[in-house]
Amino acid sequence: MQIREFEAHMIKELVKRSSPNIDNVTEPVKKIIDEVKRDGDKALRKFTKKFDGADIEEFKVTREEIEESYKKIDERVKNALDMAAANIKKFHRLQLPNQWLKKINNGIIGGQIIRAIESVGCYIPGGRAVYPSTALMTIIPAKIAGVKRIICCTPPANDGTINEATLIAADMAGADEIYKVGGVQAIAAMAYGTETINPVDKIVGPGNIFVTAAKKLVYGDVDIDFIAGPSEVLIIADEHANPEYIAIEMIAQAEHDPDAASVLVTPSKSLGEKVYNILENKIKHAKRGDIIRKSLENYGRIIIVKDLGEAVYFSNEYAPEHLIIMTKDPKTLLDRIENAGSIFLGELTPVSAGDYGSGTNHVLPTSGCARMYSGLSTESFLKKPTVQILSEEGLITLKDIVIPLAEYEGLYAHAESFKKRLMR
Ligand code: NAD
Repeated sequence: MQIREFEAHMIKELVKRSSPNIDNVTEPVKKIIDEVKRDGDKALRKFTKKFDGADIEEFKVTREEIEESYKKIDERVKNALDMAAANIKKFHRLQLPNQWLKKINNGIIGGQIIRAIESVGCYIPGGRAVYPSTALMTIIPAKIAGVKRIICCTPPANDGTINEATLIAADMAGADEIYKVGGVQAIAAMAYGTETINPVDKIVGPGNIFVTAAKKLVYGDVDIDFIAGPSEVLIIADEHANPEYIAIEMIAQAEHDPDAASVLVTPSKSLGEKVYNILENKIKHAKRGDIIRKSLENYGRIIIVKDLGEAVYFSNEYAPEHLIIMTKDPKTLLDRIENAGSIFLGELTPVSAGDYGSGTNHVLPTSGCARMYSGLSTESFLKKPTVQILSEEGLITLKDIVIPLAEYEGLYAHAESFKKRLMR
């Protein structure tokens, strides 16, 4: 990792980081999807054996298995899930949009109603680690939105079981059905259905490159949330910031993945140097030190800018998944932030708060996609049909818009439908 002084011509190079490259896996992933479409549960069994080493007869988790998990779970973890769920519910309830019906012009009423997507599939990853927090983050917003059927798929361990914390999290979040199936085969089953799993309208949740490729391939037949890559954090800090806190935040992202990105942008060269030295020292003793070192070598950066204005400019160009602002008065910069997945203000606000339980969602856009979309939210599970009502006055208000434009576009019946009503 280097300390670099920022110059405008470097911007393209400095915002570069890993993005999900599904090209190499598209072919095998498509084969798995096609086989699940053709052979249903039989294909799910075959691929679960092949990739997870598990022989599964019944994919659906039973109530007894869930009750067993409640008995087995570490009480501290259960309490943490309970408290996290309460905050996540509270936050996501506040995201519910309003329906409205308002006068748009004389005789024209327009509005929108809010309806939940009917069925949703939440993918909870579970290959190399377990993510009960992701069960809360995907299922709770769907529940708050009013989705009638929420199913959840997660890969089993090779003994055919699902991690107890994941099961409990999915259950307390409100999943209606939980299935022991992961990877591409789970995405295909949720998209197209099998004998056991009825298909859903939308699939959400993170996963590895195979899961990501599968989501991209089924998109269009079902909706998906978005394509997510390795984790990222960008920290804007000034000379008042605590360098220890910054270093640990960078390490916390770096420990996810050798392709994760951790960036500090600061006008203070001395802060940059302190952070650099702390990082060098901490990496030597850190758990997961190899991953952290590789990640910082690949996509770790300390960038020295001329002032906080330039730091904000850089951050907006980078469009980070997580943005931390550790300056004397962080709120003053908020108005100028355009592109970020989730924003953490002040040095007492670590990314881990949002990862686990302050209430905000941790399924967020990466690889610069915060330029065009937001993370998972209650709205991800809602549709907004529009409504309009015209009176006679409304027909008169609109006639000089609709008739000439419809005739100009050669859509004569469109014009006619309007004229008929005017002449009645
Ligand atoms: P996963 O559940 O995404 O993948 C495991 C599955 O991958 C297996 O069940 C198997 O079916 C499939 N698979 C493995 N090798 C395969 C192959 N060669 N061909 C086809 N399929 C294969 O779990 P994971 O691998 O641990 O990855 C989880 C990812 O999700 C990580 O990158 C993690 O960082 C990310 N994650 C992100 C968030 C977030 O909110 N952004 C949260 C949690 C996890």
